[in-house]
Amino acid sequence: MDFYHLQSFTTKKRVDEKASYTQDENGNPLDVVYDYNYIKARLNFYDLRHTPISHLKYMDFFPIRDRSKIITKGEGATPLYRLEALGKELGLSRLYIKNEGMNPTGVFKDRGTCVEITKAREIGAKAVCVASTGNMAASVSAYAAQAGLPCYVLVPEGTPVGKLAQTLVYGARVLQIRGHYDDCVRLAREMAEKYGYHLCGDYAFRREGQKSAAYEIIEQLGWQSPDVLICPVGFGTNLAGIYKGFVEFQKLGFIDRLPVIVGVQASGCSPIADAYQRGKRVCVPIERPDTIAGAVAVGNPGDAPFLFEAFSKTRGFALKCDDDEILEAQAILGRKESIFVEPSSALPLAGVFQMMKDKEKRRFLISKSGSDSPKIVLIATGNGLKDPRAVLKKYATPPSADPNMSEIDRFLRFKLYKLGTSPKIRERERIVVETGDDMNLKRADELIRREFGLTLPRTYLEDVRKLAQIFKQKGKPISRIDFQRIIEDTLKERAKRKVLEFKDFKVETSLNARPSARVSVRQGLRTYEGCSEGVGPFDAIINAFKKAIPSMHSPSFELTDYIVEIDSAKTDATVKATITMRDELGNKVIGTGTSPDIIVASVLAYEEGYNLLLNSHENS
Ligand SMILES: *Cc1c(COP(=O)(O)O)cnc(C)c1O
Repeated sequence: MDFYHLQSFTTKKRVDEKASYTQDENGNPLDVVYDYNYIKARLNFYDLRHTPISHLKYMDFFPIRDRSKIITKGEGATPLYRLEALGKELGLSRLYIKNEGMNPTGVFKDRGTCVEITKAREIGAKAVCVASTGNMAASVSAYAAQAGLPCYVLVPEGTPVGKLAQTLVYGARVLQIRGHYDDCVRLAREMAEKYGYHLCGDYAFRREGQKSAAYEIIEQLGWQSPDVLICPVGFGTNLAGIYKGFVEFQKLGFIDRLPVIVGVQASGCSPIADAYQRGKRVCVPIERPDTIAGAVAVGNPGDAPFLFEAFSKTRGFALKCDDDEILEAQAILGRKESIFVEPSSALPLAGVFQMMKDKEKRRFLISKSGSDSPKIVLIATGNGLKDPRAVLKKYATPPSADPNMSEIDRFLRFKLYKLGTSPKIRERERIVVETGDDMNLKRADELIRREFGLTLPRTYLEDVRKLAQIFKQKGKPISRIDFQRIIEDTLKERAKRKVLEFKDFKVETSLNARPSARVSVRQGLRTYEGCSEGVGPFDAIINAFKKAIPSMHSPSFELTDYIVEIDSAKTDATVKATITMRDELGNKVIGTGTSPDIIVASVLAYEEGYNLLLNSHENS
C-alpha cells in the first residue's frame, strides 16, 4: 500500500497517477490523499520541533517516494515579520507578514516547484513544459535547470521584464502567446500531450509543496495557529495548499483550530470573490483580465473548489481590491515596513484596509473586549523587483543634476523630492490645463503648488511655460500626468547650457519612400540649415541636423539606447523620449524630451543629449 493516492476533489474517485496527475475526466482538480497514520508513524516529533525551520524538514508531508530524486534550492524558511508601525497605526497589535519573496526565485512558487520537479524526476520526465504569468515560469525553469531538464515555457505577451529576464537566464525555451494566461494553460496541456513533455503548473503535486508555508507559520508563532490568514488568489493553488497545511496540522494535534481563511483578488479579475458575493460556489470565467496585479490575472481559477470549502469550514471569505488600492498598499508596505512586494502581493494589506472600513469584516481583525488581539498573517507572495515598471507608474522620475554641490543644495532647498509620489492612477488623466489655455508664470506657480506642493523659482517657471506652450501649439490639453512630465523635464533642463538648439524642422514621410527632412539649427545668434534623408523621420531629421551644424561642433558619438514611452493608451498621448548617447571617450549622457508629438519629443531628447555631450567636452 502506498502512503498516498490521487483522487478527484469533486467526485472523490481515485485516479491513476500514471495516466493523469493533472485533472479528473471532467476537468476537475485532483487532490492528494494521505494515510496519516503512516505519516504519524514515520514522523519524528522531536526533530520537527527542534531542528531549524526549512521546507524540506516537512518532507514526510509531500507525496515523494524516492528521496534521492529531490531537487531543492533551499526554498522556504522565509521570515515572518511583525508589522509594528502599521499595526500600531491600525490598532492591530499582532499583524504579521510572511515574506515569500525571500524564496530562491523571489516567489512562494518555489515550494511547489521543489515537489513538482522532484516528481518529474521520479516519473522519469525528459523535458517539462509550463504555462505561466511569469513567476511560475521563472521558478520552474530554475528548478528544471538544476535537474538538467529542458523547460518549455508559454507566457502571455507582455510579461513583466523581471520575470521574463529570470526565465531566459535560467535557460528556458520561451514562447510568448498573444492571449491570456488561460490560453497558455490550455496550450501547455496540449503541448505536453502531443510532444510527451512533463506538464508543470497549478496541479496536485504543486499544491502539496505550498503546504509548508502553513507549517512554518505555525512553527514561527510558537506552534500556534493564527486567527486570520489573508492571501492573494489567482489560480488558488497557493491558498488551497496553505489551507490544507493547517488542516493537516490540526489533524495531527499540533494546533487546536483553523484560522479564518481570506482570499483577496484584483477587481480586474475576481471570479472567486464575485462568486462568493453572489453566494455561489461556481465561478464565471473572466475572458479579459485587466489589472496591474498580473500574477493574479487568472480568469478561470481551477483550484476554486478547494477555496470555497476553506471559506465554509473557517467562516472565511473572498474580497476584491482595485488597482489604486493595490498600489497604495504596495507603497505603504515599502514606506512603513521596508518590504518591497510586487503588486499582487500587496492585495492582503489592501484587503485589511478594506476590512477595517467594513463593520461586518472588521470584527475579524480587532479584539473582542477582554481578549487578546487576533493574530493576523498576511502572505506577501512575491518580490517587488519582479515587476518594477508597475511601481514606477506610481512614482515620478527623480530629477537629474550635474555633479556639483549647488545642485544638491537646490534639490533640498526646493524640496524637489516631493515630486516623488504621484496620486492615484485614475487621477492621472485629470485635465489641469484646457486645450488652448495660456500658461503664464503666475498660473504655472499656482498649479505647481496645488498639484505637487512645490514652490519653484522663476527660472523653472519660465521653462514650464515654454513646454506648456508646445501642448497649446499641438492643440492638446495638459493632464495631471502630462504636467508631471513637464516638471520632470524642467527640473532636468536647468542643469545644462544650450550650445545648439533646434529652431525648426520639416519632415516629409510616406508609406513607400524614404523620408526627407529640412532643419534649422541655432547657435547663439546664427542659424544654420541642412537637408537630408533617412530610413525614418527621426533618422532623416538627425542626418539633416548633422549636415547643418558647423563641423567644429560635431563630436563623434553613437546612440546606445532610445526609448519611447506613453502615459496613456491614446494616440494623442504625451510621449516621453529617452535617448542615451556615448562618445568615443566613453562619456555617457541621457537626454529626455516630452511632447504630445513623438518626433518633437525625440528631437528634444536628442538636442538635450547633444548639448550635454558638448558641455562635458568643454568641461574636460
Ligand atoms: C502566482 C502568484 C500569485 C497567485 O497564486 P495562485 O496560486 O495562482 O493563487 C500571487 N502572487 C504572486 C506574486 C504570484 O506569483
